[in-house]
Amino acid sequence: MAGEPQADCLFCKIVAGEVPATVVRETETAVAFRDINPQAPTHVLVIPRAHYPDAATLAAAEPEMAAELLLLAGEIAADEKVDGTGYRVVFNTGAGAGQTVFHAHAHLLGGRGLEWPPG
Ligand code: 5GP
Repeated sequence: MAGEPQADCLFCKIVAGEVPATVVRETETAVAFRDINPQAPTHVLVIPRAHYPDAATLAAAEPEMAAELLLLAGEIAADEKVDGTGYRVVFNTGAGAGQTVFHAHAHLLGGRGLEWPPG
């Protein structure tokens, strides 16, 4: 069923506590944790507890959850004190765009200058 945990999904395992992660924020419906391979001084992944393969699928099924990820990203940016200098929120969607984990997640990146366009 849509949103149900997937046995072979790394981020479902992090949500379930089966794979450890450095969690910075948790709500009833979302979890935020530090990326294992940070690309900036602040690199946090904000994910729904429910499993959807990408941001578009999540937004179509649960638009309020998609909005919550953006809200949390902004709050964490403030907690991490990167909101003053600017930060980026990215949803890689599809392997061609660099998505490697097919459980919807926002990357929150900040704490250094970020160039545009991204690679
Ligand atoms: P994607 O490439 O799908 O947009 O992002 C997946 C992210 O998950 C990558 O930035 C990668 O470093 C991160 N990642 C992969 N495995 C783990 C893990 O076991 N723990 C944590 N905290 N992050 C992970």
